Amino acid sequence: MNAPIAKLTASAYRIPTDAPEADGTFQWDATTLVLAEVEAGGETGIGFTYTDASAAALIAKTLAKAVEGADALAPPAVFAAMQHAIRNIGRDGLVAMAVSAIDAAIWDVKAKLHGVALATLLGRARDAVPIYGSGGFTSYDDAQLTTQLAGWVERDGCGMVKMKVGARDAADPRRMAVARRAIGNTAELFIDANGALDAKGAQRLTKLAHDYDVRWFEEPVSSDDLAGLVRVRGHTAAPMEVAAGEYAATLDDVRLMLAAGAVDVQQADLTRCGGVTNFLRAAALCEAFHTDLSGHCAPAMHLHAACAAPRLRHLEWFHDHARIEAMLFDGAPRPEKGAISPDLSRPGHGLTFRTADAARYKVG
Ligand SMILES: [Mg+2]
Repeated sequence: MNAPIAKLTASAYRIPTDAPEADGTFQWDATTLVLAEVEAGGETGIGFTYTDASAAALIAKTLAKAVEGADALAPPAVFAAMQHAIRNIGRDGLVAMAVSAIDAAIWDVKAKLHGVALATLLGRARDAVPIYGSGGFTSYDDAQLTTQLAGWVERDGCGMVKMKVGARDAADPRRMAVARRAIGNTAELFIDANGALDAKGAQRLTKLAHDYDVRWFEEPVSSDDLAGLVRVRGHTAAPMEVAAGEYAATLDDVRLMLAAGAVDVQQADLTRCGGVTNFLRAAALCEAFHTDLSGHCAPAMHLHAACAAPRLRHLEWFHDHARIEAMLFDGAPRPEKGAISPDLSRPGHGLTFRTADAARYKVG
C-alpha cells in the first residue's frame, strides 16, 4: 500500500499581535504563519510554521519537486528526499522551517489515511501534556503583565508561567516582583532573556531571580555560545534550571548542545527542527542524554508528537501563537487544568484551517 503525494501547496498569513510585543533582543507587531497543504489518497494534510512569507514560495516552488509523487505513508523517506533537495540552499533557518511544515503535513495526511489521530499513529507515551503560559513581554506595563500571567494560573490552571527579561537590566527585578505577586507563591516563575546577556550579566540576574523563586532561566546568553551556557549553568543553583534549544534546525544542533552539558532542559521546536520526524528523533537524543525535552511555541503543531515523545516535560503555551491557532484552526487545543490533550476521535492533528477567516491576513 502506498499513497503518492498528488500536490503540495503553501500559503502565508500575517496576523497583527493584540498589543506590541518585545523581548530581550527583538520586537514585533505581527506574526506570519506559513501553511503547507499536502494531498494524497484523497485526503489533505496540513502543517505550519511561523516564519517569513517567502517560505511559502520555497515550499510550493522548490520543495514540491522533491515531495510530489513520493509516498505519504513513508514520512521519513520523504524527509530524506527533502534533505537531499536542500543540500545547496542550506539546512537551517527558513529552509528548516519550510521542511518542518511539510513534514508535519505529511504525518497529518498519513494519520488521516489510516483514520486515526496522529498521537495514536505515533504511539502515545501520555494522554495530556502540561503547558506553561508564555509571554510577559518587555513591552508590557505592570498591569498587562499582571493580567496575562494571573490569567494563565487562575483561568487555565497553569502551574508555570514565563516572562521575558533582558531588555532593560534595571527594570527586571521590579518586573519579576510584579510577576511573582500576580501568580502567587505556588506557581513556578520562568524567565527568558532570548540571549540578551553575557555570562556575567546572566550571573547577576540569576542572583536577583532567586529572590522571586525563579525556576527556569532560558537563553541567559546566546544559544550560539555553548561555553557561555555551560558557565551560566555552572553557577545556577537548583531548583533553577537553564534551558535553550529553540533555534535547533538539525539533530546535530541538539546533539552538540546536549553533549556540551549546556542545558538542564533541552528545548526543540517541531516547526523549526524538522517537523514530527526530527522532533521525535530529538526526543530520543534527549532520552539518551537523560535530559528532559520541552517543546517551544506553536502548541497546536506540537501536541500529538509531544504525546509520543519520551521525557517530554512540557509545551510552551506562547500567547501570540495560542491566540493565532485558536483564531484560525478548528480543533486547536484548549487548556484544561494546566494541560492540553489531543481529541483522539479526530484523525491526524485534528486541525482544520479556517480559510475564510484567514483570508484577510493572506500575504502569499
Ligand atoms: Mg525563548
